[in-house]
Amino acid sequence: MFTLELNRASAADALGRIGADFARRGWAPATSGNYSCVLPERGQLLITASGRHKGHLGPDDFVLLEPDGTPAEPDAAASSAETALHLELVRTAGAGAVLHTHSIWGTVLSEYWSHRGSVELSGWEVLKALPGFETHESAFRLVIFDNTQDITDLAGRVRARLLDPAHPLRHGLLLRGHGLYAWGADLAAAHRHIEALEFLLEVVGRLQSLDQRA
Ligand SMILES: [Zn+2]
Repeated sequence: MFTLELNRASAADALGRIGADFARRGWAPATSGNYSCVLPERGQLLITASGRHKGHLGPDDFVLLEPDGTPAEPDAAASSAETALHLELVRTAGAGAVLHTHSIWGTVLSEYWSHRGSVELSGWEVLKALPGFETHESAFRLVIFDNTQDITDLAGRVRARLLDPAHPLRHGLLLRGHGLYAWGADLAAAHRHIEALEFLLEVVGRLQSLDQRA
């Protein structure tokens, strides 16, 4: 699905196709969500512009940033409000791509399990899509962060967890009442991780709903 040598045009095309797919799945309602990937040649970050509908992204719906977060092109639109979190995940987690969805199950479970601080995703075959999880017997805690409009503060809290030697944050996180972030070494990996985590959130949410009716 993705070209190996990403440049601005091919990255915008790949992220646009991801947006159309996510919108079709109900993971990007009402302009929500944001996507980015690193262009390997100079380490610049291509990220969705603020407020654009993700179901029909074109080349002008992206902003190119230098590694320090400053615009790399003249007359640039405003980048996503959550740009600082993308930059943090690139710098500290070594992400080559970051994808962010607002799915129903991610939003519901991020609220439901907020008192526990994580959603337990254990015992599912699809966990094997995540690096470091070799069997379905693995346990993965998807950490929930309190939501905020102060993205610099959020990025600081995420950095602390990424660097936590005892419980390092890996592959994804939930924002309470908000949605899911997933990242990977490149766009294909980030795409695989967010699909796996969205699938698992929906499985756990549906199973929980059935249990409550029994
Ligand atoms: Zn969001």
